[in-house]
Amino acid sequence: MVEEFVFDNTEERRKTRQNGAGWVEVIVGSMFSGKSEELIRRLRRAQIARQKVQVFKPKIDDRYSIEQIASHSGMTHISKPVMTAKELLAQIEADTQVIGIDEGQFFDMELIIAVNELANSGKRVIVAGLDQDYTGRPFEPMPQLLSIAEFITKTHAICVVCGSTANYSQRTSESTERVEVGAADKYEARCRRCFVPHSDAPTNI
Ligand code: ADP
Ligand code: ZN
Repeated sequence: MVEEFVFDNTEERRKTRQNGAGWVEVIVGSMFSGKSEELIRRLRRAQIARQKVQVFKPKIDDRYSIEQIASHSGMTHISKPVMTAKELLAQIEADTQVIGIDEGQFFDMELIIAVNELANSGKRVIVAGLDQDYTGRPFEPMPQLLSIAEFITKTHAICVVCGSTANYSQRTSESTERVEVGAADKYEARCRRCFVPHSDAPTNI
């Protein structure tokens, strides 16, 4: 049976500013699990609260449109494409309160330093990204971000084969590149039983 992921707002209640410090929230899961939807939902609520929000995505991901993050269900939010974590840091304005980052797995490892720096300076940082690559291996820098985050949300998709809770992104194309941008044309959400590791996948990426 599929257990739907339940969104409650306890996270927002817990996170009302206590001592002026910021914090890190990480949203991880497979493709189609609703990471972008959840990120956009949180960003919209911050804007309703009249907080200043800045949103970023890595330049490598050119799906849908360049200046937007987009969910597979059509939700969008404006965002700035950046090449590196350093570039992201350089674009942060002093009065920004909330920073959203989508497709965190396509950033370099310096994202961990950048995210910590932003949270240390009193900002709320929300990073969404794939926690595993198409072979099922942890996808850096997301595991490291999970370690430093105050709040973690794991989202799940529905397995397209059997309807169970899906935790894997099955690549349906032949490519063995770790980064192969695509959506339903190249990937399927699969559960542990239905996930078939790519036969040609390198063993030590
Ligand atoms: P992610 O950012 O995790 O890739 P999105 O937020 O972009 O996910 O998209 C989630 C939406 O994708 C769902 O609300 C649903 O409309 C759609 N969707 C398509 N295929 C699936 C699937 N196999 N399981 C769950 N949702 C799916
Ligand atoms: Zn399945």
